[in-house]
Order: sequence, then structure tokens, then C-alpha cells
Amino acid sequence: MRNLLSIDLEDWFCVSNFDALIPRSEWDAQQFRVVESTRALLELFDRRGVKATFFVLAWVAERAPELIREVAAAGHEVACHGYGHQRLTQLDAERFDADLGKALTILRELSDAPVVGYRAPSFSLTERTLWAIPVLERHGIRWDSSIFPFGAHPEYGIADAPLTPYRLGEDLVELPMSCVELAGRRMPCTGGGYFRLYPYRLSAALIRRCNQAGRPVIFYAHPWEFDPGQPRMTMPLLKRLRHYNHLDVTLERLDRLLVEFEWGPMGAWADSVRDSAPLLPPGSAGARAKAA
Ligand SMILES: [Zn+2]
Repeated sequence: MRNLLSIDLEDWFCVSNFDALIPRSEWDAQQFRVVESTRALLELFDRRGVKATFFVLAWVAERAPELIREVAAAGHEVACHGYGHQRLTQLDAERFDADLGKALTILRELSDAPVVGYRAPSFSLTERTLWAIPVLERHGIRWDSSIFPFGAHPEYGIADAPLTPYRLGEDLVELPMSCVELAGRRMPCTGGGYFRLYPYRLSAALIRRCNQAGRPVIFYAHPWEFDPGQPRMTMPLLKRLRHYNHLDVTLERLDRLLVEFEWGPMGAWADSVRDSAPLLPPGSAGARAKAA
């Protein structure tokens, strides 16, 4: 089974964890490391013959347009991660409309292929931000991968959302972040901090389990997760351990994953499931019945 590989292309200081530590007004004063850390990934993907989807933060694209052109020229898919990395929970429909419109103008200029995929910062498409769906549709987004069907994280997730693709609107497919069910509970198996936290064998076992259930895994990572040389911020101990855990071995681990499983970009999969995906706006009775 072909699994789906995605990179949220943003720099180390753009992450939501640093919202209070590095205000956006100071982003331009930070060490810009994303070009180098992304190139390390591009080299790895090239060596393994793998194509991925890059959800590009347009603030970064504005400062490193040549990097985004490199990504596209290497045959990877360019999708949208918004402009300023505000979580949807920090915005309203009007401000999201402005952020998304600005981002898409920048990214569509840099990519020859249509930019029609979207992932919200920090998976912030939740029951509180469903107003974002018509905004996505209005901007020609045809598939989204922002909903985490998981209830145990304090900041994101829709606990009872379906695990398989569904349509949020007539022409908008949701590709939910991957979870597997173990003893009636959902466990994320989708990369990011989970991939750095779990031992490699556990990640691989969860991917196999997800595949056995008939679902490809959507794996995600950020370039900074492969950059042990990034500046370290002072944070509470637990947060710090979680944020900087295993940065030095993640590239090697990802390489193992690329060899052990088959990978490809997300858009083609979205197109292949669009017609059969049920229309189930999250929060609807249908979605709850389906998930039960
Ligand atoms: Zn992000």
C-alpha cells in the first residue's frame, strides 16, 4: 500500500509552541535555517526516489522563493499551510480569508501545478472553526488535511471524526490525520512529535496496523525536526523534552521508514477517493453515526 508523505514547510521559529516566545514581528530577526534543513530532506527524497507533498508557509515562500521552485522542480507537490501560521482558533472567517488569499497568491505564482491542498497550522480545524470550510471552498481548495480524529490532545482534534476520507463540502475532500484503534482507543500514527517520541519499531508497527485496516498512513514532519543545530528556546522542562526530542536521529529514522514502506504525495490520492468519499461535514449527525 502506498502511504502519503507530507512536510509542513516552515522554519523553526514559526511553530505554535513559540507563539508567546517569538512574536511574528521578530520572525525576520531570527536565524533563517529552513532552506538548509529542507534541502537535506530533498536530498533524502531524491536518493530514495520518493515524492512528497509540501504544505508551504507562504511567509517562508516570500523569503525563499527559489526553495519552493526547487521543491516543485523536483516533482514534489506544493500545497498551502497559510501565510502567517496563526491557528484558525486565533482567527475568524474574515481574517482567515485574507490569510489564505495572500498565501495562495504567493504559492500559485511559484508553482506550475495547481495549488489546491491545504493544512491548517497545528491541525486547528476543529468543531470550533468549521466556519473555515466555506472559505477553503471559495479559494478553490479541493482537499484538506487539517482534522485530527483524536480527542486526547488539548489543542486540536475532533474526537469522533471519521478515520477515512470524507467530503467536507460538495468538492472538498478531507484526508484525516492517521490514527489506529487499539483496544477501543485511538492512537496517532502520523509522524511529527509522535514519530520522534515513539521508538522506531512502534511507529513502523502502527503504520503496518493502519495499512492492514485498509488505510494508507499520512505521515508529516517539519524541516526543523531534522535540524539539531537550531537555536534552543527556554521552555518548561516537559515541553522542552517533547520539542527537542531526538532531533539528531530523525533523518536516519525517516530514511528507514522510506525504505521499509512505499510513499507518495497526497493530491493524487485525494482525487482517487473524491467520488467515493461520503459527504459528512464534521459535527453533523451523519459524521457521528459513521464514526460510532
Ligand atoms: Zn505548521
